[in-house]
Amino acid sequence: PTMAHSKALLVLENFVGGKFVPCSSYIDSYNPSTGDVYCRVPDSGKEEVEAAVKAAKDAFPIWSSKSPLERSQILNKLADLIEHDLEAFAQAESKDQGKTITFARTVDIPRAVHNFRFFASSILHHVTECTEMPTMGCVHYTSRAPVGVAGLISPWNLPLYLLTWKIAPAIACGNTVVAKPSEMTSVTAWMMCKLLEKAGVPPGVVNIVFGTGAKAGEALVCHPDVPLISFTGSTLTAQRITERSAPHCKRLSLELGGKNPAIIFDDADLSQCIPTTVRSSFANQGEICLCTSRIFVQRGIYSEFLKRFVAEAKKWKTGNPSDPTIDVGALISKEHLEKVRTYVKKAQAEGARVLCGEGVDPLALPPGNQKGYFMLPTVIAEVKDESCCMQEEIFGPVTCVVAFDTEEEVIRRANGVKYGLAATVWSSNVGRVHRVAHRLQAGLVWTNCWLVRDLNLPFGGMKASGIGREGAKDSYEFFTEVKTITIKH
Ligand code: NAD
Repeated sequence: PTMAHSKALLVLENFVGGKFVPCSSYIDSYNPSTGDVYCRVPDSGKEEVEAAVKAAKDAFPIWSSKSPLERSQILNKLADLIEHDLEAFAQAESKDQGKTITFARTVDIPRAVHNFRFFASSILHHVTECTEMPTMGCVHYTSRAPVGVAGLISPWNLPLYLLTWKIAPAIACGNTVVAKPSEMTSVTAWMMCKLLEKAGVPPGVVNIVFGTGAKAGEALVCHPDVPLISFTGSTLTAQRITERSAPHCKRLSLELGGKNPAIIFDDADLSQCIPTTVRSSFANQGEICLCTSRIFVQRGIYSEFLKRFVAEAKKWKTGNPSDPTIDVGALISKEHLEKVRTYVKKAQAEGARVLCGEGVDPLALPPGNQKGYFMLPTVIAEVKDESCCMQEEIFGPVTCVVAFDTEEEVIRRANGVKYGLAATVWSSNVGRVHRVAHRLQAGLVWTNCWLVRDLNLPFGGMKASGIGREGAKDSYEFFTEVKTITIKH
């Protein structure tokens, strides 16, 4: 740390009422690929949140009275400005989060741009309902209005991507926002603040307070003038947010963890299935809520699958995230790396076999990355369904492969966890694909593919994976208040 402090540190400031404001105390933020402190993030609390909520409240009357078209034009302008700086945003996201520059360039930042364009467009196309009651001489119709100040809380795995997935629909609908990104990945949100004025976003419409969940996050959740909270993060934090917001009866949208199964039947096209399942297990170091972490393979193809899957996983190169040939970057923090490693050790202690990766293969890192938080893609076989590796979200580059015999059995086992976010099914039998998809407890089921998304349609989880859905119509409904009006003529 002494060395790192002697270098010029990046110091972030909160963005409130259209202005950058310093904070009285700061938190260190690490570069996960070197282990150095490189940035200082405001450690905001009640006072900073109070100022941000006030700014958002003051901006609400003007912003909410703009037409959808005016707001749409501003969102499109902001998308253009982020896109113009795509490379700088991608570099910053990779450095701050540890993800590969390739992933940041091709997924995170393009998707952040697209989030604004998508909601800029979808806000122009919503229709409300109307019904007639001729015998009563009445028509009924619904009207929708923005709710007020929206509190938005996002995690560290896809920082700008997930933050803009909330900011875009919230402001497109006419709300103003106070957002709190993860204290571990705040840089790209701060960079975006610099573009808001140029895009035409009026002061106070988007306010960002940086800091920890316990201080800044809770202050936002408990603020009486913030009637809705959109949260993406862990199930444990969501329980806390639910408790803390309960006295205010807030509207909550909760996008939480997963323990996503891939079910591979013996008639699957393995030439497609294997590279896709390696990607669904290890993309972004396995730090995506939609990543596969339990792979059920039908017994007849189990050994062949395992052999080919491990060979494919070994092709993934782990190393310096800024090198464009690297597939696996650094995990978010030292603590998280330790946690992920502990799962692998527990599996071994229970008699499971680690086929590649952690503790089995050598990890060679460039000299500058020796203190980074790296881990090889790890495949574990012969894990029991009740093992914590098969039940708990690991959120790292670890996947478990097990065998199954029948369709009935695999549905029961795939559903046998507390989570229900996403599932993947591989089979060339279309009848089976439909049957299995209908019976899986998951908010999203992909068959013969993974992570193909149409943002129009609902996104979200069942069971402990969340409450509510996000998407064109779903986000519109969440971020607006509906009213039914009856006219007698
Ligand atoms: P986390 O729950 O620790 O933190 C998420 C955010 O909540 C951070 O900004 C954090 O500062 C804040 N926070 C923490 N405690 C808080 C509190 N008491 N009150 C208010 N805010 C608080 O999650 P994480 O470790 O940052 O992210 C990883 C988790 O997010 C994983 O479980 C992953 O599955 C989940 N996730 C879900 C989705 C989805 O769409 N379903 C997407 C990405 C990540």
